[in-house]
Amino acid sequence: MTIKIEDYYPKETFDRIKAFAEDKETPFLVVDTKIIDAAYEELTAAFPIARVFYAVKANPAPEIIRLLKDKGSNFDIASIYELDRVLELGVTPDRISYGNTIKKSRDIRYFYERGVRLFATDSEDDLRNIAKAAPGSRVYARVLTEGTHTADWPLSRKFGCQNDMAMDLMVLARELGLEPYGISFHVGSQQRDIGAWDAAIAKVCNIFERLRDEDGIVLKMINMGGGFPGNYVTRAHDLQTYANEITRFLKEDFGDDMPEIILEPGRSLVANAGILVSEVVLISRKARMSLHRWVFTDVGKFSGLIETMDEAIKYPIYTEKQGEFEASIIAGPTCDSADIMYEDTKVQLPLNLAIGDRLYWFSTGAYTTSYSAIEFNGFPPLQGYYI
Ligand SMILES: *Cc1c(COP(=O)(O)O)cnc(C)c1O
Repeated sequence: MTIKIEDYYPKETFDRIKAFAEDKETPFLVVDTKIIDAAYEELTAAFPIARVFYAVKANPAPEIIRLLKDKGSNFDIASIYELDRVLELGVTPDRISYGNTIKKSRDIRYFYERGVRLFATDSEDDLRNIAKAAPGSRVYARVLTEGTHTADWPLSRKFGCQNDMAMDLMVLARELGLEPYGISFHVGSQQRDIGAWDAAIAKVCNIFERLRDEDGIVLKMINMGGGFPGNYVTRAHDLQTYANEITRFLKEDFGDDMPEIILEPGRSLVANAGILVSEVVLISRKARMSLHRWVFTDVGKFSGLIETMDEAIKYPIYTEKQGEFEASIIAGPTCDSADIMYEDTKVQLPLNLAIGDRLYWFSTGAYTTSYSAIEFNGFPPLQGYYI
């Protein structure tokens, strides 16, 4: 399949980014913050009942944090370093959640001393650490979710606990003087099956009812995590369809007794706003009769494209050359043979593609700059421009 600009961006948007990119040395990411602004508007309009906590790990650029802060967003933070960054940019601690379930006791204290009072947990030892280092805080338990095989970038197994454990944690939280506040889940990033939320919400509803009936604990909040899509080659439903369906699931399970709803979007807010610009370094064939070319470019798995691991995320790659296309293998510039982006899934690139031509990687605003290595083979980290 060949990539058409209009399937991803208005032509003017692409032209503006291309013009900005013209005189700059590749590789780099250009993010059009107006697209993020629009994505935030779309999300909050589609989910009027939810509060948004931007998952900073998707793209921690100060320009993005500042924009989302001004639009009223809250922030899901995973480390003391992300915390320092958002606080420096003027975000107040009441708009921050410490969403990482894996944390040092001294880091919990660091958050507490700076005023954060909302913590995720999924284990007893972590909960006890929170009770000591952040006394009286609100805690929510993260549960495991199924159906992660339909997520292109699953966040399964490592995070969350079984329902019974989540209930035990909420009971223990009360005993430890914390406020048992809610339940969270994450159905997996780039989740293309909306039914995954149905199953997760039903699970949460069951926990709410049992805690209320068996332990007299009334939880107040559901944190539905992220999982909303970016525009990649493998298309997903549009956001409004997600919102309609998920809101329906919530109403079916909670009726008029709707708890506070939190969303933690990362990818869906920033992915589409970014275009990564790279250049062709070399084109080769491994045998005289080889059916496939190898196209090497100056960006790779270690400079921002790690989500191509197992060819999970399929970025649309656009070139301005047209004509006959050929199935190609595309790989990065480093001396590591894992630095191949797409081999099983061949990329259609024009036969007249030449060394020095530019490649435009669409929908690369999320999980690229933040994942880039700092000096593998001496290559500098991926540069980002925010326009
Ligand atoms: C990464 C992460 C998110 C963001 O997920 P997306 O699929 O990128 O929207 C949200 N919440 C938590 C706890 C995360 O770890």
